Amino acid sequence: MSTDRTRALRLTRWGGPPVLTQVPRPIPSGEEVLIQVEAAGLCRSDLHVMDAAPGGLPYRVPFSLGHEVAGRVLERGPQAAGPEVGESVVVYGPWGCGSCARCAAGAENYCDRRAVLDAGRVGTGAGLGRDGGMADLLLVPSGRLLVPVGDLAAVQAAPLSDAGLTAYHAVATVRRSLGDDASASVVVIGVGGLGHLAVQILRATTAVRVLTVDVREEALALAEECGAHFGTLLRPDTAGVLRSRTGGVGAVAVLDFVGSHSSLELAVAVLRAGGDLAVVGSGGGELTVRKPGALPAGTRVSLPFWGTVPELRRVVALAREGALRVEVERFALSSAPEAITRLRSGTVRGRAVLVPD
Ligand code: NAD
Ligand code: ZN
Ligand code: ZN
Repeated sequence: MSTDRTRALRLTRWGGPPVLTQVPRPIPSGEEVLIQVEAAGLCRSDLHVMDAAPGGLPYRVPFSLGHEVAGRVLERGPQAAGPEVGESVVVYGPWGCGSCARCAAGAENYCDRRAVLDAGRVGTGAGLGRDGGMADLLLVPSGRLLVPVGDLAAVQAAPLSDAGLTAYHAVATVRRSLGDDASASVVVIGVGGLGHLAVQILRATTAVRVLTVDVREEALALAEECGAHFGTLLRPDTAGVLRSRTGGVGAVAVLDFVGSHSSLELAVAVLRAGGDLAVVGSGGGELTVRKPGALPAGTRVSLPFWGTVPELRRVVALAREGALRVEVERFALSSAPEAITRLRSGTVRGRAVLVPD
């Protein structure tokens, strides 16, 4: 690698495979911070982005993928705040305007100027319309977007910034339904990158019983290792099986990490009245909200997106205490196409993480 060029996995056209290419080495100016990438997680959202039709997302190609990134601070712009050179950090991925009330509170996932940023095709954050961390180097707009991780290994830290944070925020979103009742049940649909961490977060921070559903036996085995009380494959009678596991009353909350037609149908069929449904997956399913309708009385539906900086700090703390362990399959950055093929075929256990080689 020459000193003025560096590698990045770039999406150069919609629908096309991303390509590992040489790009100019970024130089941090102003508040920017340059990160030496040590690990970048591969999310199912990366597949949704690659597969998007032209005009389907408010982003311009080309850009480098990778929204789940950990590494070390390599260089700081002259006005940069936050972690010092050499510190190990995880990158908070949703990059908002940085100055609205939501951003000031660390909730850049819900930036008040999102519509304006989208209209300008600025991008949602790292690897989502802006250059991300499936690369040797990542330029981060500000030190406010970095969370120190201490001695946590980079391959563990990277997935915390999306798989861990999004799962944590989804649990926080439904928390009012969880209470202290150890006989109450939560259903987790889809035990992949996000779901296996949601199971651990529920076990570490609540008293509820955790019932899991997937279409793969291996995912249910992982759910059990993560502390799930019960797991079942998605079958025509799954709603009945789950309901009987709740003593017939239904689940106080459903976390749907798939978001497809079949997963939403199952979610509605297992919810208890007055419960919470959090739709996290972008599987293209639709839910009809109508009174009276299929949703049980009192249902609260939420569409959590990513999480906040304070939540990311809590997720990192949980991992450092040993309460959260990411199941990781490592791939070299140069083997990204293989990792993508594996994720598409549904054979990744936990999270695929790319490591610059
Ligand atoms: P993943 O592929 O690692 O996990 C998905 C899991 O769901 C797999 O174990 C798969 O076998 C299982 N599955 C598929 N269809 C199913 C069905 N009908 N019923 C039950 N299980 C089923 O994906 P991931 O990276 O964990 O992402 C999950 C979803 O969440 C994706 O749609 C992704 O785009 C989305 N996502 C949303 C946010 C957000 O902020 N809302 C953030 C990250 C990812
Ligand atoms: Zn993601
Ligand atoms: Zn903002």
